[in-house]
Amino acid sequence: MAYLFQQNLSVSRSVGVVVVGAGPAGIGAAIAAARNGAKTLVFDSKGCIGGMATGGMISPFMTSYDSGCEKMIIRGIFEEMIDRMNAIGGVIHPSGVRNKQPYASYFPVGHNNVAPFNRDAFKLVGMQMIRESGAELLLHTQFVDVIKEDDHLVGVIISNKDGLSVVEAKLVIDCSGDADVAARAGVPYVIGNEIDGNIQPASMFLKIGNVDMKTVGADMAKHAAELRPFYGPYSWLIKEHPEDWGDFPRAEICIFADVEDGEFRINCSRILDVDATKTDDLTRATMIGQEQCYHIFNFLKKHAPGFENAQLRATADTIGIRETRHIEGEYKLTGEEVASCTVHKDAIACMATNMDTHNKDNPGGTLNPPVGPYFTVPYLCLVAKGIDNLLVAGRSISADAGAGSAIRMMPSCMAFGQAAGTAAAMALKEKIAPKDVDVVRLRQTLVAQGAFVGD
Ligand SMILES: Cc1cc2nc3c(=O)[nH]c(=O)nc-3n(C[C@H](O)[C@H](O)[C@H](O)COP(=O)(O)OP(=O)(O)OC[C@H]3O[C@@H](n4cnc5c(N)ncnc54)[C@H](O)[C@@H]3O)c2cc1C
Repeated sequence: MAYLFQQNLSVSRSVGVVVVGAGPAGIGAAIAAARNGAKTLVFDSKGCIGGMATGGMISPFMTSYDSGCEKMIIRGIFEEMIDRMNAIGGVIHPSGVRNKQPYASYFPVGHNNVAPFNRDAFKLVGMQMIRESGAELLLHTQFVDVIKEDDHLVGVIISNKDGLSVVEAKLVIDCSGDADVAARAGVPYVIGNEIDGNIQPASMFLKIGNVDMKTVGADMAKHAAELRPFYGPYSWLIKEHPEDWGDFPRAEICIFADVEDGEFRINCSRILDVDATKTDDLTRATMIGQEQCYHIFNFLKKHAPGFENAQLRATADTIGIRETRHIEGEYKLTGEEVASCTVHKDAIACMATNMDTHNKDNPGGTLNPPVGPYFTVPYLCLVAKGIDNLLVAGRSISADAGAGSAIRMMPSCMAFGQAAGTAAAMALKEKIAPKDVDVVRLRQTLVAQGAFVGD
């Protein structure tokens, strides 16, 4: 059974660039497009900006430094946000964070230069920067569909309190994380791993406060030999108390110290086989995630030294989704290029993050020893195939699952957003398709505006 629903939709906005989704990528894209002269609208289905950084309660920012911890390589809008959040006490600056610290969940490797942050500071600074750039922000607004003529998008249909309407746009940047716009527009994509179909697990973050940090630190020092990737904090407690841990599908409890003293953000929850492009799956994951948060909290409170008086301060508003669609773009980044630290001539962003696959068939992931200072992401990974005015930024850019697991971090997603916004504004000015943007000049513009695109 199907119903025909017809309605003439009015045009609620007419812009140069519309950015769908205001997570890390969308924030970067909107600010960059507006700063470079495009009339820009960014909208989000949620009641706040930030995506996973706020609603998902994810923290810390994964490293924005090179593998030798020598210099910051994700800069530009991300660095501006860090500096402004730092000025209001909303972030621990990544320059000072090293492996083994509480901010790095006591991990001996793989967590140098991470940056814990306060999500309210992120919201405040992000909204201030969007406003100052001249971009318009619309919250509580869902992307519904595209209006398409041949291989060209005329605009997007949105739904909000005002009803359904059309946003006309000369150029669309899909920062929905899930590539919702690209999928609707008919851009080819793969969900999860192209080889075995696995999708990275979903997780619900929680925040625990009133923890005795000194006692936790002493306990971690006692167990230093047992702290290693994917068998991180409390793998020993889990072994000691199987009756209380049950069949929970993870063998460690990552506890990242927060900006606020005595508080930890917990990355432990694990829900398998979630296809987050399906609402049923999202709902199931949210319900399981909520149960898991209380399970983790109760376990820590009962067994972990220093958590005796702990309080559960918050669970995430939104289930954490690591992976959904990887679009097919004009170039596809591969896991091999990430692992070999390939440097591309047309790079728009550099990063030194691990391939963090959270594979369900092994303890947790893949920690690659760096063979170079960083790897890069070429501009054409952001250019969607088959549509002449669509860019995609954020975790769903054109990359295989291996590369996708390394590029999906918040700082890099913001850098992709900045590149996409800048390219969109250039394309509009020059009346050309994003695919034809001169990458040499794009890179020069990005550098002039504070970004780092390679040595
Ligand atoms: C459990 C977990 C742990 C992680 N750990 C870390 C970590 O420690 N450090 C790190 O740096 N990164 C981490 N990440 C990765 C990181 O959080 C995300 O990959 C990153 O936020 C992706 O940014 P994005 O802008 O592409 O998408 P998102 O952050 O998902 O933002 C997308 C935005 O688009 C909006 N949106 C989506 N669909 C629509 C629609 N149809 N209409 C309107 N709006 C829409 C959403 O509401 C959201 O605001 C983690 C992720 C998870 C899930």
